[in-house]
Amino acid sequence: MPEPIYLDHAATTPVREEVLAAMLPFFGPRFGNPSSVHRWGREARTALDEARERVARCLGANPDEIVFTSCGTEADNMALMGVWRARHGEDRPAAVSTPIEHKAVLGALHQVAKEGGEERLVAVDSNGRVDPASFEAQVRTDTAVCSVMWVNNEIGTVQDISALAEMAKSRGVIFHSDAVQAFGKVEIDARSTPFDLLSISGHKIGAPKGIGALFLRRGTPMEALMFGGSQDRGRRPGTENVAMAVGLARAAELAVEERAQECIALSALRDRLEAAIIERIPDAIVHGRGAPRAPHITNISVPGTESESMLIALDLRGIACSAGSACQSGSINPSHVLEAIGVSRDVANAAIRMSFGALNGESDVERVAELFSTLAAKARRLATA
Ligand code: PLP
Repeated sequence: MPEPIYLDHAATTPVREEVLAAMLPFFGPRFGNPSSVHRWGREARTALDEARERVARCLGANPDEIVFTSCGTEADNMALMGVWRARHGEDRPAAVSTPIEHKAVLGALHQVAKEGGEERLVAVDSNGRVDPASFEAQVRTDTAVCSVMWVNNEIGTVQDISALAEMAKSRGVIFHSDAVQAFGKVEIDARSTPFDLLSISGHKIGAPKGIGALFLRRGTPMEALMFGGSQDRGRRPGTENVAMAVGLARAAELAVEERAQECIALSALRDRLEAAIIERIPDAIVHGRGAPRAPHITNISVPGTESESMLIALDLRGIACSAGSACQSGSINPSHVLEAIGVSRDVANAAIRMSFGALNGESDVERVAELFSTLAAKARRLATA
């Protein structure tokens, strides 16, 4: 069988050699606890402080505005719940977001409702772009916090975060963006874009799973979600994961350095793949195609096919991608993102997400397009037989 092709970089990425090399000493001789006063501790503290400075530099932030977390999910939860808990007493019971967010945000929003707040969602159009009129209508002076993802993880749609953050600010609403899929793909600078909080995750950019960071602009009120020691100014108690923070810093620097080149390379691969599939299957639907999109994600439905069996057939032939739908307790639920952008259930149940990254090259495109199209045509024939 030919070499397998990994087309699931939006799910996770391989750890980069440079990142692993930067982390290794902290699993060996540099094992100290950054809170210890002795030399081992001081050495760990220095490495942690430097990692914080480096991540901050990558975001145009100050080091004290970076909180290391265990993942993107924790950063999202912390932003939504932490700000809402700190502010809802000021007659701001609402938290607002979009229906196409990752469950890390939607779950936190539900928690707000469970704790007595009000959760509200703004409308998105058929490409997944936030409707500015709906945003204005929902983000009001009764709102503590609002959250809009920078890049959607299923279809790649990019939002106009500057305009949305500006609008939120004008009503005194604290604005968070989940930039887990955006970091390294779009320009993110806290000096020029007025978001108050922003989440990133290491494993989407070549660091290991289990590390993320939350940018928290100076002066933004936020309650800690955990209780314990005074690490990270009490915002995130618990002994810091020095090795992972160092890994995240290295990965973030590389992502920023390589961003421009990476975007050119990945969008070329994506565009070629989409064109090659549409050439073979003219009625294939590329979701979100009418909006600005991040370069690494494409999500395609061939009507009359079914994503779960396509995924298995592709995997058997060495191609790894994912579905636009999640399989929960045996029943296949169509993706909440595709549902929110008005895609019919049948078309949503045919969606396949392919996401590009370091492991892909030009030679993959033809092979994937050919195989994908052949399998889809066969699935259609079987469905109508
Ligand atoms: N937000 C988005 C947009 C994501 O794509 C993901 C992961 O898929 C997350 C949040 C969660 O990040 P983590 O896996 O680090 O918890």
